[in-house]
Amino acid sequence: MQVAIIGAGPRGLAVAERLINLVDDQTQINVQIYDPYAIGGRVWDPFIPKNRFFLMNTVVDQITLFNDESIENGGKPLPGPNMLQWLENEAESFIVAHPEFDEQYKREVTELKLSKSFASRGMMGIYAAWFFEWLTGRVRHKQTLNFSNQSVNNVQRFGKTFELELSDGTRILSEHVVMALGHSDNYLTSEEAMFASFAENHQLRYIGPKHPSETDLSAFDENDNVIIRGLGLSFFDYLIALSVKKGGKFERNNTGELVYYPSGHEPHVIAGSRGGFPLHARGVNEKSASELYEPRFFTLPALDALRAAGNGHLVYSDFEKLIVKELTYKYLLNRIHAKDSQLTYDQAETLKSALSTSADLNDTVKKLGLDNIPKFDLELIRNPARDLPAGTNYREWFLQYLEDDIKDARLGNKHAPYAGAFDILRDMRDRVRYVVEHDYFSADEYEKFMNQFKPLDTLVSVGPPLERVEQLRALIKAGIFEVTGADIKVTVENDMFVARDILGQEFYGNALIEARLGAIDIALSRNPLIVNLRQNGIFVQPVRTRDDGSTYKLGSANVDRRTFEVIDASGSTVSHLYVFGITLEGLKWFTTVIPRPGVNTLILRESAWIAECILAHA
Ligand SMILES: Cc1cc2nc3c(=O)[nH]c(=O)nc-3n(C[C@H](O)[C@H](O)[C@H](O)COP(=O)(O)OP(=O)(O)OC[C@H]3O[C@@H](n4cnc5c(N)ncnc54)[C@H](O)[C@@H]3O)c2cc1C
Repeated sequence: MQVAIIGAGPRGLAVAERLINLVDDQTQINVQIYDPYAIGGRVWDPFIPKNRFFLMNTVVDQITLFNDESIENGGKPLPGPNMLQWLENEAESFIVAHPEFDEQYKREVTELKLSKSFASRGMMGIYAAWFFEWLTGRVRHKQTLNFSNQSVNNVQRFGKTFELELSDGTRILSEHVVMALGHSDNYLTSEEAMFASFAENHQLRYIGPKHPSETDLSAFDENDNVIIRGLGLSFFDYLIALSVKKGGKFERNNTGELVYYPSGHEPHVIAGSRGGFPLHARGVNEKSASELYEPRFFTLPALDALRAAGNGHLVYSDFEKLIVKELTYKYLLNRIHAKDSQLTYDQAETLKSALSTSADLNDTVKKLGLDNIPKFDLELIRNPARDLPAGTNYREWFLQYLEDDIKDARLGNKHAPYAGAFDILRDMRDRVRYVVEHDYFSADEYEKFMNQFKPLDTLVSVGPPLERVEQLRALIKAGIFEVTGADIKVTVENDMFVARDILGQEFYGNALIEARLGAIDIALSRNPLIVNLRQNGIFVQPVRTRDDGSTYKLGSANVDRRTFEVIDASGSTVSHLYVFGITLEGLKWFTTVIPRPGVNTLILRESAWIAECILAHA
């Protein structure tokens, strides 16, 4: 049996692992993985120089590539070291035995042994390379496992087999094809194309949405004024690339504050976004590898009851209220158990029990006389500048906002009032996935979920390591970075890029960087494989019909959500052609994750199901 896996990221590797380890000794199977990047995939490729210093935003002991006992219906587990254990026991000798990896990684291994550490992205790629070597060692007599460093440009069906067209023109036949394609690059939108051509015609620089690790910033220097649009994870990559990588350095002063010492070669950066605020810093990790918060209110029975009350559909505002109730509960618990709380242990326990049965947490708080605790105000979290008096010095106020975020995150992802509450969204993600996958929302309500919950969830629970927010503060203090007010709009005027914000400020730049990846949408993708599959009617976008009869399309490809087999334009299932992961975002919720040990983790669970479907046909 021939199985082609397109994509060597964590998903592609996980499918290969299950195929090799679950197949019986008598079955012949040839597993072939394709990717133009290294094993481990594009995001983690250790040979991309910037991946030596761009950080992951998941701590090392919450990362694994090994299938474990927690995976439901995943077949016989075969546990192995999580990334922390691998760093402690295996990484050094592996890197020494593989001189192709940069020396920097050897130094990183010696520094990185704490469960609360964040590894470089390249180190994740080396963990994947080690995993692949381990897996190759498990291949038995009738099996093969190979990696081909090429893209697949097209897949076509001929009877019961598929023909893959590789980037060098070779054509390969395979009976099963699994696609785990990750983030794609997109065609430029009309605005982006206009900026690109304006830059070209006016000797300006324009960097469209792309992986920051793959951008060339070598020409940027102290003579540049760079406008950055976006304050998400890509922004923090550019922050490092335009500071430390221009020769400056961060050092802690005697009060523990991070201070930036410029080299003099940094460009001046003006950064902003629609929302106007960078993602919240991750709370310092206090959770063990598999530790998940158990919700008190955001439970399946509660969601089912709301769905029943909504005549079979969950109303978005009810969903949001329930999730906010859980966040508020955790926030209040953290406040009453805080070190500086005036309450005795018994008082705190009494309050906890009153809150855990409360129908209205704010009301209970009032009745219990806890008015001195600041309210968990969701709208203020969405828009922290909401109550800003006119005439406020925005820079000073913004620095204080960052300071508060840093102080809170230092208290830890279990105990900090805010970072501790926000982190439970990560732990509850599978429940949100369940709601999305089981169509709890109508088309109208799902649209609200995507427009309102997605940005909120990103703002509070996807953020960078705390150090990155400290670095931003230091760069603002050093006068190298400025952050604009919300609602940044960029235009071109008088041979320059111009950014304007809600505060009426105006900034001029000779360079514009879009600090984000392209949207996940097969209609916009320029990945040749996705383009061809779309043109051949194999990939189509699922359509949702609103109550008024109008429709909208999801950005995902259409699949049978049970088997992950593609559903084509005629509505037929294309047997043995599987797609999963990021290409299904929209049909599924929050696919952009790395596997976590011991929590029935999404990627390993779905990879195991796909491998078992394939093996059922052996
Ligand atoms: C910059 C960045 C940083 C991230 N950091 C984190 C993090 O710290 N923690 C976290 O949990 N998640 C992070 N993510 C999310 C990340 O997507 C997942 O963690 C994980 O890598 C997803 O695995 P995957 O296998 O689905 O996709 P990927 O890891 O993206 O792998 C997909 C692979 O498919 C290949 N491919 C695509 N098209 C073709 C083709 N036509 N032919 C052959 N190969 C093809 C790509 O080259 C790529 O290597 C990050 C994502 C990005 C973009």
